[in-house]
Amino acid sequence: MRKVSIFGATGSIGQNTIDLIRRAPDAYDVVALTGGANIARLAGDAVALRADVAVTAYDDRLPDLRAALEGTGVEAAAGQAALVEAAARPADWIMSAIVGAAGLAPGLEALKHGTTLALANKESLVCAGRLLLETAAAHGARLLPVDSEHSAVFQGLAGEDIDAVERIVITASGGAFRDWPLEDLPTASLAQASSHPNWDMGQRITIDSASMFNKAMEVIETREYFGVQPEQIEVLVHPESLVHALVGFTDGALMAHLGAPDMRHAIGYALHWPERRELPVERLDLARIGQLNFRAPDPARYPALRLAYDVMARGGMMGAAFNAAKEQALDDFISGRIRFTDMAAVTETALERMSAERDLIDAAMTLDNVTRVDHLARQQAARAAEERIG
Ligand code: NAD
Ligand code: MG
Repeated sequence: MRKVSIFGATGSIGQNTIDLIRRAPDAYDVVALTGGANIARLAGDAVALRADVAVTAYDDRLPDLRAALEGTGVEAAAGQAALVEAAARPADWIMSAIVGAAGLAPGLEALKHGTTLALANKESLVCAGRLLLETAAAHGARLLPVDSEHSAVFQGLAGEDIDAVERIVITASGGAFRDWPLEDLPTASLAQASSHPNWDMGQRITIDSASMFNKAMEVIETREYFGVQPEQIEVLVHPESLVHALVGFTDGALMAHLGAPDMRHAIGYALHWPERRELPVERLDLARIGQLNFRAPDPARYPALRLAYDVMARGGMMGAAFNAAKEQALDDFISGRIRFTDMAAVTETALERMSAERDLIDAAMTLDNVTRVDHLARQQAARAAEERIG
């Protein structure tokens, strides 16, 4: 039996991971499940999967979790330290599917124990890619991509030499507003931004897809994970979301990865890697689909993409600043303080100000320093939002 833990078990990726694990109950021994405020789901799954421990991220939810788990034999825990402690428990495979920078500390801890980390939490690569990769290398741990584009690239690179790669093309659906008139974007509502044309995902990544902040993060994730140069990474709008990524080689060949827009593809690949096993996903009928469309992303519609290349050019810990400023701007959009289009403007202003913090941005990449950059960038973004509200 393989020992597995799922961080962010109550979310969209976490639930898809549980779906796969439930189908082969004898193959897995579940160590830890973590979640947030949805105690009923966390406790229900922990009992059903006979986890050793269930952890809620929120200290004040511990009494509820304890009550829900009473007499079940599943241990209850809460808070940031408990999340890190759960990541240190021996496991063969851990799914990192917490949303946001909060996924970084548990992920690092898992790697320090040599555990294979299936990484859906792209924010941790954007914040601290080098630190994650170096920690994995130092402890003989492996990082496997779960983001659909990066799983596709990873599969396209199997058996290939990274030096023979000319370019990596990641696709984007274009999000909820890909066909909206540009002048209507400032008035886009939270409900409109929270609905994705092709994928069923958590609210934050869905809004980030509408703004292309998600793709901007994925460009940086591509650079960090595969070690290619920024100019080798391209974004292509592909409304059908069936081609997830393409790898272009020096001989001109372009290898595309296709699959139904179902995250169980990428999760399953990471779960069974290095083997490929049968998965309960739809098989594409290309004759019925008939055509696939592609177009270049419009920079006026998606200013976030340019920011990703600015961040990579600046280097240091600008990735952590970018992610934090974006998270703060997203919080401010969700709470109704700023408009949809303000998110890119606020993030850009925060990044300009963070760029002036040279000593901090160029300091050694440690968890403490990443956290410092994260806090300051959130403050700068909050300030920039205040200024925009006036
Ligand atoms: P979600 O919002 O559905 O779930 C997030 C999970 O994280 C929940 O379990 C929640 O309780 C937990 N969480 C939230 N805040 C936390 C905190 N501060 N501390 C600890 N735990 C916290 O999100 P999701 O869509 O499942 O996305 C999870 C991650 O996977 C994100 O990094 C996202 O970018 C990435 N991802 C998601 C998809 C997708 O299809 N949903 C695809 C690719 C990548
Ligand atoms: Mg993706």
